[in-house]
Amino acid sequence: MAGLAPDGGLYLPETLHRLPWSVVPETLAQTSMALLAPMFAHDALAQALPNICEQALTVPVPLRSMQTPNDYILELFHGPTLAFKDFGARFLAVALDHLHVAATRPLTILVATSGDTGAAVAAACDRRPGLRVVILYPEGRVSARQAHQLGCWGDNVYTLCVSGAFDDCQALVKQALNDSHLQAEVPMTSANSISLGRLLPQLGYYGHVALSHYAQHQRTLNFVVPTGNLGNALAAIMARQSGAPIGEIVLATNANRVLVDFFSGQFYQPRPSVQTLANAMDVGAPSNFERLRYLYHGNDQALRRNLRAFRVDDALIATTIRQRYQRYGEIVCPHTATAVATLEQLRAQGHSGDWAVVATAHPAKFDTVVEPLIGTTVALPDSLADLLQRSASAEPIAPDLAVFRHWLRQFAQ
Ligand SMILES: *Cc1c(COP(=O)(O)O)cnc(C)c1O
Repeated sequence: MAGLAPDGGLYLPETLHRLPWSVVPETLAQTSMALLAPMFAHDALAQALPNICEQALTVPVPLRSMQTPNDYILELFHGPTLAFKDFGARFLAVALDHLHVAATRPLTILVATSGDTGAAVAAACDRRPGLRVVILYPEGRVSARQAHQLGCWGDNVYTLCVSGAFDDCQALVKQALNDSHLQAEVPMTSANSISLGRLLPQLGYYGHVALSHYAQHQRTLNFVVPTGNLGNALAAIMARQSGAPIGEIVLATNANRVLVDFFSGQFYQPRPSVQTLANAMDVGAPSNFERLRYLYHGNDQALRRNLRAFRVDDALIATTIRQRYQRYGEIVCPHTATAVATLEQLRAQGHSGDWAVVATAHPAKFDTVVEPLIGTTVALPDSLADLLQRSASAEPIAPDLAVFRHWLRQFAQ
C-alpha cells in the first residue's frame, strides 16, 4: 500500500528463505505461493495469499526451445496487455482489493506511465469495484497502439494525457500522494516500478520455470534478462536465493549504459536516459539498483563477480530482429532482442549449458519497429485485437498540480 517507505527507502523482505523444493509444484500459482508464504507470514494478507495467487497468477509462462541448440525463450507476454508487467500488476491489484475490501470509499491508484505499466495496471483493475485507476501519460510520447491500450477501458479507469514529459507525470503523482489534505478526501496509492507488490510475484515465474526445467533435464537454467529499472532481473536473483535451480543471470541493456559501466568496474553513476528502440528499458537511473546492492550487503565487488551486464545498441537490436527472422523464422520484440543478442555473444564466447532469454513483450506490441525489419506483418494476438476494437480516449490536462488536484477532487465526488 505504501510504495515508498516513510524514510524514502524501498521495502524488501527481511530475509529470503532458502526453500528445499523436494517436490515441484504443478502450477505457477502454487510455486509463487510457496516462494511468497514466508514473506507474508504474520501479515494481514497471509490468509489470503493462496487466493490472491490463484486469482492473479493464471497467465501461462511457456519455456520454448529456440532454433539454436540449448537456447530457450521464456515467454512472459501471454497476459492481457502482452508484457510481463501483467504479472506484477495483477498480483498488486488483487492484493490491494483484499486489503481494501472493508473500506467504504474506493482506493484510487495513480500511475504515471510511458507505456506498458499503465496498460497493465488498467487491465488488472478493470471492473474491480473497490479500485479506481488514474493513468497519466505524456502526450505524443507513446505509440498509437500504446495510447489505445491506455485509453480503452472506461468504467473505473480514467486516462489523462499530460501536455509534458514522463517526468511531469511522475511529479504530479508524487505531489498528489504527498498531499495529506488531498489524501484525506481521496484515498490514493501508486503502482510504480518500485512497488513491492509488483516485484514479489515476479519471483514466481523464475522459480516455476527453473524447477520444471530441472525436474525434466536435471540441469540448471541460466537466464538473460532485458533490463531497465532492474525489477525483473532482481526477481530472478531473489528466486535463486530462495533455492530455485537457477545458474547465471545476465543483464541485457540497451544503449543506456549505467549498469554496463558499473559492472565493468566504474562507480555507479546515474545519467539522463537516451531514447532507443527498446523504449521500456530507456532508464538512466534504475530504480531497483539500491535493492540489488542491499542484497549483496553493499559489497560491489561481490555483486560484480555474480552478475554481468551487456549493452546492445539500436543497430544490433535491429540486426538481431532481422536475422533471427531470416535464419530461423523467430520474431522477437526490441526488448527481447537485447537478450537474444546478448545470448549470441555469450555463446560466441564459449558459454555452454541451458540458457533462456526472457521475452518481456509480444512483438505485435511494437509493430512499427518490428514489421519494417522483417518485411512482413506480425499476427495480432486475440487479446490485443479485442482491445484495438474498442474505442479509446484520454482527457488532456496541463502538467500543473493545482489543475490535477482540482480534477481529483471532482472525480472523487
Ligand atoms: C518494463 C519492461 C522492461 C524492463 O523491465 P525492468 O523490470 O524495468 O528491468 C523490459 N521489457 C519490457 C517490454 C518492459 O515493459
